Amino acid sequence: MDRLDTDVIIAGGGLAGATLALALSRVLPSLKVTVVEAFPLSTDALPEDYQPSYDARSTALAWGSRLIFEELGLWDRLSEHATPIRRIHVSDRGRFGATRLSAEDHGQPALGYVADNRWMGLSLMRELQATAVQWKAPAEVLGMTPQPYGVSVAVKTGDKVAQMSAQCLVVADGGRSGLRESLGFQARHEDYGQNALIANVSTSDSHQFTAFERFTDAGPMALLPGGAPDRPGNQSALVWTLTDQALQALIKLDSECRCQRLQDRFGWRLGRFTRMGELSHYPLKLTTVAEPVRPGVALVGNAAHTLHPVAGQGFNLALRGLMTLVEQFRSAIQQGRSLGDLGVLGGYQQAHHQDWQQTVRFSDSLIRIFGQAPAPLAAARDAGLVGLDLLPGAKRWFARRAMGIGGRKPLISGQGAFAEGESAGNE
Ligand SMILES: Cc1cc2nc3c(=O)[nH]c(=O)nc-3n(C[C@H](O)[C@H](O)[C@H](O)COP(=O)(O)OP(=O)(O)OC[C@H]3O[C@@H](n4cnc5c(N)ncnc54)[C@H](O)[C@@H]3O)c2cc1C
Repeated sequence: MDRLDTDVIIAGGGLAGATLALALSRVLPSLKVTVVEAFPLSTDALPEDYQPSYDARSTALAWGSRLIFEELGLWDRLSEHATPIRRIHVSDRGRFGATRLSAEDHGQPALGYVADNRWMGLSLMRELQATAVQWKAPAEVLGMTPQPYGVSVAVKTGDKVAQMSAQCLVVADGGRSGLRESLGFQARHEDYGQNALIANVSTSDSHQFTAFERFTDAGPMALLPGGAPDRPGNQSALVWTLTDQALQALIKLDSECRCQRLQDRFGWRLGRFTRMGELSHYPLKLTTVAEPVRPGVALVGNAAHTLHPVAGQGFNLALRGLMTLVEQFRSAIQQGRSLGDLGVLGGYQQAHHQDWQQTVRFSDSLIRIFGQAPAPLAAARDAGLVGLDLLPGAKRWFARRAMGIGGRKPLISGQGAFAEGESAGNE
């Protein structure tokens, strides 16, 4: 085929798809990139008009993710509404163990940040407007057929279905990925039998930029600092793991009783819970795909892995995967290979595999050992937290996981550079 419609088609313009499009436009500006997104583009409220909303959902970004966004030239904008996490306090309700991580101990201004998802989306859209990335929205990717030149992708816009030719398709259509299933990828789902309840809460004491992870016999919870980046506020984002039954019972309560229930589980480290905003909830599953690549197609973001949100690792892992994929594309171009070549996409899988496995294991074991632990694991729970606090090596390992620091080299020289051992300091 002489001329392709585009080089890369990204199915899904959520956080993963939009960030990949931005990374490709920054690192490989000569590539033609098309994002197909099922929902209309949100151009109604541009960042200049943005007002943080009390009820917006937020994401904990690890320090390593800040470095990636710096590399992509997005951090200055994102940081306007990203609350720093200066300390992490991990505790176990009714038990002895607790551990504390502090940015100061690592010689850094923050261990990570809490950013409003809507703000991240708007910032990405604004940045992408100034690139050559093409958007088809609202439109849907229906399927893909391998071709000698790459792939032919069926795109539905309104009532019309058209075929688009490209070197490769990247599937970023989220955790309920219909494309993953229809393209025949084998996903493994493990149901945690619980739900994540999300709400913003106000407390009588300021969070002092501390994130709390608390493990209780009924499941883990996290409270992430929210509000203005430059002064410690009284608003935190709650992620609370609950069984179906406990969730339904909580939903029926009025706001005051919900705060009381939360107080009982969390304790008084933030003073009194005075308000709980709008509730949203998600069933919790661990979904992983053993082989995220096929000739002409790669899975990224939640389509490739959906983790328990309490450990705050899903998007951070996705970001590192996206940069790995971009790096493989860059090598392929240098070697004159097609981007959809299985050797190229297999290189992405191989390079990302260890990080992927370790992060999935870290977040899953955090939930299994410290979550609803049966009696035999109780001792391991105590030993785990006490051990983390006492053993510098273990604590440093835990901190590096939480900060999302790996051995990545920057793809854009002079931007957000970091390497193994550089940022974490010595503990
Ligand atoms: C409650 C909760 C809290 C979380 N907290 C954290 C955290 O603190 N830190 C962290 O790192 N991660 C966190 N995560 C994970 C993080 O939210 C996800 O990793 C991230 O949103 C994944 O984005 P995505 O782009 O892969 O998927 P999505 O955001 O689901 O985007 C998929 C997009 O694809 C589009 N789409 C679907 N099908 C098609 C199609 N056929 N054609 C075209 N478009 C299509 C959809 O419209 C959507 O826009 C959390 C997740 C949950 C559920």
